[in-house]
Amino acid sequence: MVAVKPINTIKSMISKPKDRLDDYDKTGVICQIPCADCSTVYIGETKRSLKTRVSEHERCVRLGQTDTSALSEHANRLGHNINWKDTSVLGNETRWHQRKLMEAVLIAKTNKINIISNRDTGRTLPDSYIQLL
Ligand SMILES: [Zn+2]
Repeated sequence: MVAVKPINTIKSMISKPKDRLDDYDKTGVICQIPCADCSTVYIGETKRSLKTRVSEHERCVRLGQTDTSALSEHANRLGHNINWKDTSVLGNETRWHQRKLMEAVLIAKTNKINIISNRDTGRTLPDSYIQLL
C-alpha cells in the first residue's frame, strides 16, 4: 500500500532560511536570492549544488544573458544589483518530484512579496493546496 503524504509533511521538510556556508555544497536545493535594489526575491530549485547554480546565475547576470535566468532578466532589465551574499537555502530535497513540489509550496508561501522564478506558469500549485499552507 502506498501512503499519500499529507501537505504537513512537506511543510515540515521546509527549513527556515539559513545563512550557513556549508549550504553552498548541498545538492537538490531550493534557494532564495534577493535583489539588492528592490524587494524582489528569486526562488528556484536545482538538482546540482547551490554553489554551481549561483555561479551560473552570476555569470548570466554578468554577461547579460537573460534567457536562462529569470534573475538575470530582472537584474539586466532594471539595472539592479543582486545581493548574492544573502542567498539562502529554503529547502533541501534530492528527489525530483518532491523538490518541484517543495519549490511550488515555497513560492506559494512567499506570495506577499515580489517573486521571480524560472517556473512555467502551468506548473504552479492549485489554489486548494495554497489554502492548506
Ligand atoms: Zn530588483
